[in-house]
Amino acid sequence: MILAAIKEYDQLGRDAFLERYGFREARDYFIIHNGRGYDSKAIAGVAYRGVDGHVLRASEFSGGAATVGRVLGHLGFLLGSRQDASPAAAFLEKIRDLDTAVSNGRPKRHQPLTLLWALGRAAHRAERLVPWDVTRAEISALIKEFGLPGDRPTPEYPVLKLTHFGLWTLPDHPEPPRPSGSPPLGWMSRNQPVSGLREWVYELVAEEQAVRSQASAYLLEKYFPDEDQNTLLIRVGLGDIDEEPLPPPDEARTPGRRSATVQRIVRDNALSRLIKTLHDHTCQMCGVRLLLPNGPYAEGAHIRPLGSPHDGYDVAGNLLCLCPNDHVLFDQGAVIVEDDLTVVNRLTGESTGALRTVPGHDIDPQYLTYHRNLY
Ligand SMILES: [Zn+2]
Repeated sequence: MILAAIKEYDQLGRDAFLERYGFREARDYFIIHNGRGYDSKAIAGVAYRGVDGHVLRASEFSGGAATVGRVLGHLGFLLGSRQDASPAAAFLEKIRDLDTAVSNGRPKRHQPLTLLWALGRAAHRAERLVPWDVTRAEISALIKEFGLPGDRPTPEYPVLKLTHFGLWTLPDHPEPPRPSGSPPLGWMSRNQPVSGLREWVYELVAEEQAVRSQASAYLLEKYFPDEDQNTLLIRVGLGDIDEEPLPPPDEARTPGRRSATVQRIVRDNALSRLIKTLHDHTCQMCGVRLLLPNGPYAEGAHIRPLGSPHDGYDVAGNLLCLCPNDHVLFDQGAVIVEDDLTVVNRLTGESTGALRTVPGHDIDPQYLTYHRNLY
């Protein structure tokens, strides 16, 4: 009945719908559906006619989070403010609000792995809806490889949780079981549902690389801080989307230059491409965005260096997006970064400004400390 009311709202338009049923415009609470915002109280009042045949008038009930919001949330609808009505904002908010269980103080990874798997599929425009046996096998393998120690490969829970949370869908089964206890696996085995991201989510992340990158970076940072994030990106198919420009033409390749170029290309991997995409290849120190004939160019700079003796992690929190000049200055310790992200030139002792940041990429201060101590 909610969906029927939304359909009618779409057909009539907002003003006519509100006028017909005597509702005022909502101020705070909108149902976010397929990336659009709908006045939640009006939709709830109109949908109520499915319960006893008449539309609830505005004066007969109160709207808001505790009443209408709670009921709509139980039904799997997303409530938000009007600004959230942009699909990207609604999706990213959901990604930040994932309800994951905690094990020994660490958030469980079943839902993040399921989402990363789906993001990888969308990036390649692979089928949105996947049979259960395939879903089960592929997500189980990811949980075994990247889950927390002792995690059981039980993809039925994240699939059902994400469904009730509004990001996933089992289109042939409007009332799937709750994601708790033992029924889910039996139910899945009996029904063999196809499932996948909701259509608006799929279209959004398939089309918008920036949204996909922000969601991936957020999931990596929150749920996999100590994992090999680059390998994980490659395993879920998010490693090879944004191809780098080709190396410089032959005349630029004196032997010395060539080895430097090769070294940088070797270091460039899926994770650093993700971070550079998030920054739109703009240097976090000087704001320069180098444009080459093949596209923009930046470098992923590890704050705590990889490899012996430093043994830094290849994780997003340990990476900066820098132009080649600032990369060299940073790697050689000519500049350091304070915990408040102030960049300091060690030769002059002067601050050269603050590091530029973007949503979805937070720098872990422990690596900045390590870099400062190094110099
Ligand atoms: Zn720079």
